[in-house]
Amino acid sequence: AAKRAGGSTYTVFEPQMHVDARRQMELQQALRGAAERGELALHYQPKIDSQSGRTLGLEALLRWTHPQLGAVSPGVFIPIAERFGLIIAIGDWVIEQACRQLAAWAREGITLCVAINLSAHQLRLPDLIERLRQALQRHGVAARQLICEITETVAMEDTEATERTLQQLGELGVELSIDDFGTGYSSLAYLRKLRVQQLKIDHGFVRDLADSADARAVVSAVVQLAHALGLRVVAEGVETPEQRAILVDMGCDELQGFYFAKPMSAQALASAGLLDCSPESRNQ
Ligand code: C2E
Ligand code: MG
Ligand code: MG
Ligand code: MG
Repeated sequence: AAKRAGGSTYTVFEPQMHVDARRQMELQQALRGAAERGELALHYQPKIDSQSGRTLGLEALLRWTHPQLGAVSPGVFIPIAERFGLIIAIGDWVIEQACRQLAAWAREGITLCVAINLSAHQLRLPDLIERLRQALQRHGVAARQLICEITETVAMEDTEATERTLQQLGELGVELSIDDFGTGYSSLAYLRKLRVQQLKIDHGFVRDLADSADARAVVSAVVQLAHALGLRVVAEGVETPEQRAILVDMGCDELQGFYFAKPMSAQALASAGLLDCSPESRNQ
């Protein structure tokens, strides 16, 4: 999307908006202590099994409600949190909250996987694995219920530290998913080496599917190569029945997007019947 001119009003906080230096300072100050003041929340967006149409898992997406400005997009505040050194604390809050929610669902007989998004800064933490292990342990959650989404560009940062951390995530038993896949230039063989289990095709390709033979060729090739390497493929940003049909046809494993469900609170998911995936309901 094109950047908006100016960006000096208080009303617009859209993902691609330019946020000037002064606004960034204000936001980073407001972001400090946001978790403690109860301004952060996780919303969850279903990942749908393309065959059965059932919810296989959920992606946790962070929400910040500023007391005066209202909802600020993560596309705006995550980069600010990264720039001002706040992302580690916020990331810890996300890990804690996701594990707490998984445990709460387990008590209701609901077993799902939850995917969290990890920032490059978190991947550079020497003790990221320990932080994850402790959060899982604190809430009695199995590592296989947690998926870590890492964007393609971050996964491809060819540093020894990143590679080691990704290996250790695999050893911990947490699944790895490459987010926004297709926007970088990764080698699938390298991803295989990193013990990645899942690729998420970037919504840009999904958006163009119906109109662009090129987009269809790319997505189809990615699905086939991924399957040849034993990886699952998720499509993000599915908005129309046409896109769904094309992706099902191509053999895409999981679908995610507004066509199925928007990200919503745990409570709203339950009310919408989107958590109806207990073993009993599965056999019906
Ligand atoms: P992402 O991980 O690629 O998440 C997908 C984004 O697409 C989400 O935006 C989601 O609400 C949106 N989306 C889902 N379905 C559709 C659809 O059908 N159409 C369209 N147009 N959009 C759809 P959101 O929640 O604004 O998050 C934006 C980005 O912020 C995320 O991209 C992720 O990179 C980052 N983010 C969100 N939560 C966290 C977090 O807890 N930690 C970190 N490090 N980053 C986060
Ligand atoms: Mg993601
Ligand atoms: Mg994504
Ligand atoms: Mg994306």
